[in-house]
Amino acid sequence: MRYSDHANPVLTLTAGPVDAYPDVLRGLGRTVLYDYDPTFQLLYETVVGKAQKAMRLSTRPVILHGEPVLGLEAAAASLITPGDVVLNLVSGVYGKGFGYWAKRYSPHLIEIEVPYNEAIDPQAVAGMLKAHPEITIVCVCHHDTPSGTINPIDAIGSLVSAHGAYLIVDAVSSFGGMKTHPEDCSADMYVTGPNKCLGAPPGLTLMGVSDRAWAKMKANDEAPRASMLSIVDWEHAWSRDEPFPFTPSVAEINGLDVALDLYLGEGPEAVWARHALTARAMRAGVTAMGLSLWAASDAIASPTTTAVRTPDGIDEAAIRQAARARYGVVFSAGRGETLGKLTRIGHMGPTAQPIHAVAALTALGGAIKALGKDLAVGRGIEAALAVIDADA
Ligand SMILES: *Cc1c(COP(=O)(O)O)cnc(C)c1O
Repeated sequence: MRYSDHANPVLTLTAGPVDAYPDVLRGLGRTVLYDYDPTFQLLYETVVGKAQKAMRLSTRPVILHGEPVLGLEAAAASLITPGDVVLNLVSGVYGKGFGYWAKRYSPHLIEIEVPYNEAIDPQAVAGMLKAHPEITIVCVCHHDTPSGTINPIDAIGSLVSAHGAYLIVDAVSSFGGMKTHPEDCSADMYVTGPNKCLGAPPGLTLMGVSDRAWAKMKANDEAPRASMLSIVDWEHAWSRDEPFPFTPSVAEINGLDVALDLYLGEGPEAVWARHALTARAMRAGVTAMGLSLWAASDAIASPTTTAVRTPDGIDEAAIRQAARARYGVVFSAGRGETLGKLTRIGHMGPTAQPIHAVAALTALGGAIKALGKDLAVGRGIEAALAVIDADA
């Protein structure tokens, strides 16, 4: 085999963490300033401002200093109290996982669960809210990455807001790669991070928090304080005049600063368009070569990740091993319930370029062919090129 497991691959086309932009890597190499140096305090305030602009928020976002699982767990711990009735919407592994956190803080958990290749229907949410007026918090994962499917969070958000409940959104793998912002879906807590579509390494959480979510957290005596899980401790940390509750991740802030400059500089609409085009080319190629998409319909297929159903009789892990060993290309596996059933190709940040769809199709098709399934790989490439060239 050409590529050893002990040397870096040629292309990392994963569903996160993703390859970082070269400019971000250079940003990570900036001087590590003392956190109370006025230059760093000013940088921190500036980065929060850039994040606010990127997230199109009317309030300041919060940065937590751990990858976005920290933000999700902190949101559950801070907002949910034993008196809350939580409706958790489940269309995949991350949605399901949030329910386990929710259950830690309130015994009252209701779920709507759909098969993991489908999306939540807003009508079902409307019905559940009507049947259970006592629901106070709704949780939803926008892009359930292990399935590569998108939930209609803007429609869900307007229902939740009309009901008067709080909405917690996991937008970790969609924000920055498609049109989604906390206030578009009336989220009270909107959790994302730099390590997916912003093309930076894992290490931080970006969180949009509504005024009423701040009030609810501050009124919750059980919300973590003096803890790594605390959100309330960070409320004023954005200001250069306020202390940090503990040392922020200085190098990660340097990287995020560059990632936000790249996103805002290229223009969000242009960034979303190249994510969408890459995914469309990928989907066209997958079906044209004789493979199937995992998502039940094109309409719910993610623009930031394509999940390809594993052909019958083929071992999914062997597909990724062959792609890695033959071509030096890394893909993601499924997770939990989708593990072994699909292979994921990420189109996130620097890999959201149409030419990467061509490379991904070549490596995926070549690997599956090598494992004995007859595929029209060339036809897949041509279909992808047709999509790309039609956009030119
Ligand atoms: C990546 C991701 C997270 C962050 O969690 P990790 O599994 O630790 O990377 C959270 N939610 C979603 C939907 C994600 O894709």
